[in-house]
Amino acid sequence: MSKLIATAAIRGSHKLILNAEQMLEKALAEKGKDFVFEFPDTAFYLPMIYAMTGFAVKTLADMKVALGMAKEMLHPEPEEHIWKPYLGEALDSGMATLFAEEIILALKYINGLEPAVDLGTGYIYNGFITDTIQRNLGIQLVDGRMPGFAAIIGAAPDEDLAVKIVREIQEKNILTFLSGQSRDKNGNLTCVTKQLLNKKVELGWDTYIVPLGPDTEHTLYALDWSVRASLIFGGKKPGDFKTHLKYTKDRVFAFALVLGDLDDIKWSTGAGAINMGYPAVCDTEIPVIHPTGVCIYEEVDRELDHNKIVQRAIEVRGLKIIVEKPPIPVAYGPAFEGERIRKEDMFIEFGGQRSPAFEWARTRELDEIEDGKVIIVGTDVEERYKKGGLMPLGIVVDVAGRKMQKDFESIIERKLHHNINEAQGLWHMGQRDIVWMRINNQAFKDGITLEHLGVIHNTLTHNRFRSIVDKVQVTLYLDEKDILAVQEEARKAYKERDKRLAGMIDESVDTFYSCLLCQSFAPSHVCVISPERLGLCGAYNWLDTKAAFEIDPTGGNQPILKGEAIDSVKGRWTGVDEYLKKNSAGKVETLNLYTIIDNPMTSCGCFECIISIIPEANGVMLVQRGHTGMTPAGMKFSTLAGTVGGGTQNPGFMGIGVNFITSKKFLYADGGIKRIVWMTKSLKERIGEDFKKRAEEEGVPDILDKIADETVAEDSEKLLEYLTKAGHPALEMEPMF
Ligand code: SF4
Ligand code: ZN
Repeated sequence: MSKLIATAAIRGSHKLILNAEQMLEKALAEKGKDFVFEFPDTAFYLPMIYAMTGFAVKTLADMKVALGMAKEMLHPEPEEHIWKPYLGEALDSGMATLFAEEIILALKYINGLEPAVDLGTGYIYNGFITDTIQRNLGIQLVDGRMPGFAAIIGAAPDEDLAVKIVREIQEKNILTFLSGQSRDKNGNLTCVTKQLLNKKVELGWDTYIVPLGPDTEHTLYALDWSVRASLIFGGKKPGDFKTHLKYTKDRVFAFALVLGDLDDIKWSTGAGAINMGYPAVCDTEIPVIHPTGVCIYEEVDRELDHNKIVQRAIEVRGLKIIVEKPPIPVAYGPAFEGERIRKEDMFIEFGGQRSPAFEWARTRELDEIEDGKVIIVGTDVEERYKKGGLMPLGIVVDVAGRKMQKDFESIIERKLHHNINEAQGLWHMGQRDIVWMRINNQAFKDGITLEHLGVIHNTLTHNRFRSIVDKVQVTLYLDEKDILAVQEEARKAYKERDKRLAGMIDESVDTFYSCLLCQSFAPSHVCVISPERLGLCGAYNWLDTKAAFEIDPTGGNQPILKGEAIDSVKGRWTGVDEYLKKNSAGKVETLNLYTIIDNPMTSCGCFECIISIIPEANGVMLVQRGHTGMTPAGMKFSTLAGTVGGGTQNPGFMGIGVNFITSKKFLYADGGIKRIVWMTKSLKERIGEDFKKRAEEEGVPDILDKIADETVAEDSEKLLEYLTKAGHPALEMEPMF
């Protein structure tokens, strides 16, 4: 029986290789062997082939070599092989399939056929997944917002079932990739993407549902994505196929749901996915395979009941899902965070400069509040709410707990945004006294009341801050006069907090915190987080990590006692060095927090921004994730990211969080912001106000105008011209090294 399936997989593999060969011959004849190809925004060439073999495919001629490797994998004579992993016949055919599919998709890009477009609806599929998205998702994976990934291949028996299956996955915050087609129960050839589009389900990265393309081959994009996790976050070397396969199996929690009948291509693509450690669950009568004997397909399972298929897949892959949903009548989870509510769909809104509104988390004594209570203060509240439109709203979240500290208020308050946004049909923006909230018509019809807003904050504040919060009580103010009065108090509290925060500098504390969250991907990387330097992903500052440690003392954020200062200019302490020796898998001996030249911090892969030295200009440049243009360092962000990541120290290059740029400790030992000779326009805009303040403090109030951006220079020659004309101070400073 397994023989039968293996035969199908091998047959599929041969078909794909033949197809790739024909397409390649045509392209070679038309464009010549030196024709250069790159998938959009990646530093990893054809990522699957590159990861497995170390061979960088750059031209059509290279594709021919790579296809040769795929053919070799199917060849019966091991001695002659260029590259062969010897995983066993069917599994090798699976890997051969992935190589062939990668080449086919590359050729389709060359022919302008990718990303695919659905002719019926005009819908544009995602196509290749860029390094930028890859790295952005990395952080969601490590902080647990996203427990894993599902690839759905084919079509559900009908549209309602398609929605049901996808919603069930979405509620568990698992990212869904869609590809392939099959026949629905009426015998029509279709795909889940179309089924969801017909049901008006919002698709895209924001909602965790990403259609890759209409063919089974498009599944490769998801596998390509996951193998890059091993290269980027794991720091595994190209060509070391065994460690890549182990990494994806151990660290990337992916599975496939194969809906509808299986053909040869699906079997062979499945064999490729199984190579990477991703099991598949099918909804058809495939032969049942028992995990006895040497049967490679023990990773394939079946579940004919569509109500159970998601649960089954989760069990098979061994995913741990903890979603504690508040008791409200709409769906809930981070997958709904990206939803927008347009005016036409809006039932009611609060704030947004249209009505007074604020949010405030406040510490109380344990005996002052009643846990779980929602208090609503106002006149004719029900009637006013039911009319819809616009309402003022003040929300006070009172928390009490033996381990609660005033410093944690801002952290709890910042989560209020996510608390609301994660409810389906509810939308939230801003914070403090500039909040803006909307509830859409559907959520109102489903029964969302004002009280539910309080219920959401109660449940989630408990869930998120379990060990510091013992009691939570929420008060909603709905009359303008009350709101304005309490808002005054809240504003005083905000101000006090800001003052305290501004006074918090590295010298004023004796403890820094580590963040080890990215070690699941980059085992040697440690973010050292001080009051004046946040984590490089931008998601954690010193207060966050302090609170995180209180909440979970054995978690990913640990205190680092600074110890003695060895070099207070470069930012080096005995305690930090000791900590790193123990916790960086022996990779980092010593660290300087305030320089890029001498033992700078390592980078995992999820940095918001990269600093790179420009030796010719005696300074540094800054480029943020998402910038696709060239930089004066001679590399694009994606290429730079490839050299910076992986948890090693790279003098001259470093990943940072954007807010670090305006810290007084930014490259303090190297000359600070005066060293910045180039940064992207969008970065300039993003940090504008704070940067101006810093520039004044440094005595260079007009430096922002002297810093070049992509509109004046994308290479070092133009850059130097500009800097000279502008009289940039870096040109006069001491040499950087
Ligand atoms: Fe990863 Fe550093 Fe962010 Fe922690 S702070 S999640 S280690 S990048
Ligand atoms: Zn990271």
